[in-house]
Amino acid sequence: MAKKQFKAESKRILDLMINSIYTHKEIFLRELLSNASDALDKLAYKALTDDSVGVSRSDLNIRLAVDKEARTLTVSDNGIGMTKEELENNLGVIARSGSLQFKQEMAEKGQEDEDTSIIGQFGVGFYSAFMVADEITVTSRASGSDTAYRWASSGADGYTIDECEKEGVGTDIVLHIKPDGEEEQYSQYLDQNRIERLVKKYSDYIRYPIVMNMERERMKEKPADAGEDYKPEWETYTEEATLNSMVPLWQRAKKDVTQEEYDRFYQDKFSDFEAPLATIKVDAEGTVSYKALLFIPSRTPYDFYTREYEKGLQLYSNGVLIMDKCADLLPEHFRFVRGVVDTPDVSLNISRELLQHTRQLKVISTNLEKKIKAELSRLQKEDAEKYETFWNAFGRNIKYGVVSDYGIHKDLLLDLLMFRSSHDEKLTSLAQYQERMAEEQEFIYYAAGEDAGKLGKLPQAERILDKGYEILYLTEDVDEFCVQTIQEYEGKKLKSINDEDALPESEEEKKAAEEKAEENKEVLSFLKETLGDKISDARISRILKSHAVCMTADGPVSLEMEKYFQRTGGEMMAGMKAQRVLELNPDSPAFTALKNAVQTDKELAKKYAELLYCQALLIAELPLEDPSAYTDLVCSLMK
Ligand code: ADP
Repeated sequence: MAKKQFKAESKRILDLMINSIYTHKEIFLRELLSNASDALDKLAYKALTDDSVGVSRSDLNIRLAVDKEARTLTVSDNGIGMTKEELENNLGVIARSGSLQFKQEMAEKGQEDEDTSIIGQFGVGFYSAFMVADEITVTSRASGSDTAYRWASSGADGYTIDECEKEGVGTDIVLHIKPDGEEEQYSQYLDQNRIERLVKKYSDYIRYPIVMNMERERMKEKPADAGEDYKPEWETYTEEATLNSMVPLWQRAKKDVTQEEYDRFYQDKFSDFEAPLATIKVDAEGTVSYKALLFIPSRTPYDFYTREYEKGLQLYSNGVLIMDKCADLLPEHFRFVRGVVDTPDVSLNISRELLQHTRQLKVISTNLEKKIKAELSRLQKEDAEKYETFWNAFGRNIKYGVVSDYGIHKDLLLDLLMFRSSHDEKLTSLAQYQERMAEEQEFIYYAAGEDAGKLGKLPQAERILDKGYEILYLTEDVDEFCVQTIQEYEGKKLKSINDEDALPESEEEKKAAEEKAEENKEVLSFLKETLGDKISDARISRILKSHAVCMTADGPVSLEMEKYFQRTGGEMMAGMKAQRVLELNPDSPAFTALKNAVQTDKELAKKYAELLYCQALLIAELPLEDPSAYTDLVCSLMK
């Protein structure tokens, strides 16, 4: 078959790999073994429901072989194998696992030279073998097929695929090891002891035997007729040895596993190049027994907030993989958690649709939810920096959790919430806010808008801040919905700074305000008339202190919500408009000017009305309907 070229992005990674000066080239073996293990998992899984597969778990294994003369290292598995198309698609394209994206992120940060660390920390799968091999052949026969195919490539110049013979289902990967160079002794990968050490180091937990014929030496048996002067003789013999201990990490006691091992396991299994932020180990016995090993990632997966992202934990029963992403094990609000659950209490013969085991899964997921919550609370208390990393990566998802399902999860999630606030640059929890509250302060205040920096400058923030009260800054779309769901925290209501009664008023103050409104009735009705359906009301403001105007909203849809609906809601939501209220400060010079004009010069008064309305829009960061008309208006008034 003619040579085929690699897809463009694959070629870039490939170049990187081949020319890598990376010192941890050794991780290639881990990558190949983990692929082999996946292939065995897949076949075992298929066998659960397909009698024609005819393998039992005990038949499944991985074999390693070195041939020093031919300079080859072979990794074989009797797993699911690959069809011709799969060879083409899987080995012709790389970097789906996010490594390319990582590389781009690094490039954006100007750290392109750190290319090489991707390979080491995270691995880019199969292709890492080109770090040590100058030629690779992959011979594979897919389960259910009689034909085998051989994929061969010596790197950047492309690959070939040809039909060939292969006994039995599975995959043999033959690496032709590079000649030794000045800097790198590639021959080490032909040394069985070195290979054995590598398996122990990186792949010990693989749950299938990794077997290799080890050449060993032993003393020859002493012949019966040996004389007094017999000298012991040595002989070499070959022994088939299983190199890995096969105990999965989650079955081992926590004290016997280092954090490094957990990290490596996580990075390998879930294709992340960063170590997890937190590791949670659960060993539960009771109505349902299970072991779980959970991880909170350090960063948002690139597809996390898209439909493509699939939540779920790997589900094993007695070490056999049953389901790759069991969604029922994780509530939506903790969908970022990765990990495995192993329980003997779901049986193996389940149909692929799963699960007559909803009850068991429910017990497990309820338990895990508590453990995850506890771990997050611990981080929040003990490691503010880590918690902030967590919050930046997944905080939005927690807020969605508060809002979703009519708020039934809010009690669980409430304490995890963090907000920006007027207090300082740091994030604050509601509990921390409450600790700082003044004795007489009745409410927890919030203001919503895109930019925390601007919120403190809102006209309506002034009188709250002047009292020394703190304001939470809600800068994300979901925040206001979240606050509306919460309603109150530990007996204190959450209150928008836009609310008239945000600051309690005395009877005199109330009365004075009513009188002001009465006094200025004429101006207000003029405004309503002039501005028509642009506003639903014009009001003498009780929330302004020194500024002249602001815009607020009556009813359930706030101005920020309206913006959100406009942005995301499509046609259906575009009709969700806030009922705008133009609020005026009767003690401001601008108001006096308006009032005079209403009495003496109606044309001028109309211009003032429009001007104040536009200013209120600007402050609220709402779009002006006609910006050039607005500037014309301002210019005409400057004459
Ligand atoms: P990843 O494992 O991250 O998907 P790789 O480049 O290591 O990326 O492998 C690409 C794909 O090739 C795998 O997802 C798998 O479908 C297939 N593959 C690799 N090795 C084997 C194998 N030994 N047996 C069956 N399929 C394999």
